[in-house]
Amino acid sequence: MINIKENEELSVLNHSGAHLLAQAVKHLYPDALFWVGPVITDGFYYDIDLGSKKLNEEDLVSIEKEMKKIVKDGKRIVRSELTREEALEKFKNDPYKIDLINEMEEDTVITCYTQGDFTDLCRGPHVESVKEIKYFKLLKVSGAYYKGDSKNKMLQRIYGVAFYNQEDLNEYLKELEEAKERDHRKIGAALDIFMSHDLVGKGMPLWLPNGAIIRKQLENYIYEKEQKLGYHHVYTPCVGTVDLYKTSGHWDHYKENMFPSMKVDEEEFVLRPMNCPHHMLIYGNEIHSYRDLPIRIGEFATDFRYEASGAVKGLERVRCMCQNDAHLFVTPEQIGEEFKKVVSLILDVYKDFGIKKYKFRLSLRDPMDKEKYFDDDDMWNMAEDKLREVLNEFGCEYHEAIGEAAFYGPKLDVEVKPAVGPEITLSTCQLDFLLPRKFELSYIDSNGEKQTPVVLHRAIFGTFDRFTAFIIEETKGAFPLWLAPISINIIPVNNEYHLEYATRVKEILEENGIRVNLDSRNEKLGYKMREAQTRKIPMTLILGDKERDNKEISYRLYSEKETTTMKLDEFIEFINLKIKEKK
Ligand SMILES: [Zn+2]
Ligand SMILES: [Zn+2]
Repeated sequence: MINIKENEELSVLNHSGAHLLAQAVKHLYPDALFWVGPVITDGFYYDIDLGSKKLNEEDLVSIEKEMKKIVKDGKRIVRSELTREEALEKFKNDPYKIDLINEMEEDTVITCYTQGDFTDLCRGPHVESVKEIKYFKLLKVSGAYYKGDSKNKMLQRIYGVAFYNQEDLNEYLKELEEAKERDHRKIGAALDIFMSHDLVGKGMPLWLPNGAIIRKQLENYIYEKEQKLGYHHVYTPCVGTVDLYKTSGHWDHYKENMFPSMKVDEEEFVLRPMNCPHHMLIYGNEIHSYRDLPIRIGEFATDFRYEASGAVKGLERVRCMCQNDAHLFVTPEQIGEEFKKVVSLILDVYKDFGIKKYKFRLSLRDPMDKEKYFDDDDMWNMAEDKLREVLNEFGCEYHEAIGEAAFYGPKLDVEVKPAVGPEITLSTCQLDFLLPRKFELSYIDSNGEKQTPVVLHRAIFGTFDRFTAFIIEETKGAFPLWLAPISINIIPVNNEYHLEYATRVKEILEENGIRVNLDSRNEKLGYKMREAQTRKIPMTLILGDKERDNKEISYRLYSEKETTTMKLDEFIEFINLKIKEKK
């Protein structure tokens, strides 16, 4: 989706749209006063004081109509300069504009823009004539406190968007609709996946039972894969002392992303922003021979990072997150082979989740930059060659970002294109030549000499929080059988005659480890069917006379009309296979 604020032409047009909106509001509500009307990522808004009048959707339609009239009239937009005295005189009846003027630096050139009967204090720039603002749409109205302070008066904020042609506007509105429909916050609330509460705090979502099932499935899924690849999972505390993060370097380089420290007795703790230091210490707990390597330490680890309160968003951007983290300790010779296993795991997971639109990005050092990068030419050259080799071997499409590597090693990111919105980074694999040195980690090589291992930091899902948000938006909450909070819904056609059989079917499915709901409420069949659709349960069994007498089931898949009938024991086999195959 296009970012209007970052597009210069669209910014000017959209800000002019805000003035057009204000002029129309002034025509319809002559007492209206205006605060500010900036351009935002998805269009423009204007904060308006309408006294006690509260605008609704219908009012927006009338305002749009008035805006169209003004556009048709086609007045030029004229800039003029004012002295501070002139400006204060001109806007003397408008406390908001007086406020703005008083906030300006002494030597600011104060400018106004006039179109027909409407003049607004503004820095500009604007389009030449209102005629240019032909393709626009008002999107919504909401309350907004004056200067964002809840102690102040509540103003009304009208949002809109403008484009240079009808096609772009239509396209944008369609995308907006799609984004709204897929918004994981909306679906997450409707399907009881997560909640948040002021008493817990901003950016700290609470996973409800349905969300916990999804998360547990994801954890089990990736844990099983990692087990097979020789990972050893650990549990470590989500705090560490400030000294731990001084040793790792995070305290110096990452402090602004961390929560402030807290003192307990003689120790000073921080909530950890990442788990690398804990895992370094676990590696260092034993003496290792080259024969033990690679050593792979994994953890589903809770981390805390500072995010601006305005930036937090559902499960997507949070202050408390759980990483699907692992640290792989290898000899320099093993970098290629281990990296290959990571890429192979990523591809494997993406296949299971049907993720098809993604790109690899390889961040490399700038070999000319001798200042920034960890000083070991051979290591860099060897590692970078290996990474390229592996990506070529898998036939992965990738691009190289020269000079983008961190100073301690090259990195692989996988950028995934979601159903709506810009690309997101899901998986990462970062090589690190430096951290093992900081923690004085070693292994004994074949000559009996101490060597420093290389570390690969990697996360496949990234965080469970963000990945869940992603999956919700991709599936619109219609999860596959293996992931859905309830995989199968059972509806007896008539409780009196079919409940006993339905209960038996439920028990058999549960014995097979399948999550089932038996809907035995005294409601009509059609009503129960519709509700199962609303709750997006992947499969519904409808059991009546025929099914009971023949030991059969009839099932219907989510959003499909077709019903399939099968013998019960065949069905058990069929459903087990489907779940195993992650269909
Ligand atoms: Zn303006
Ligand atoms: Zn790490």
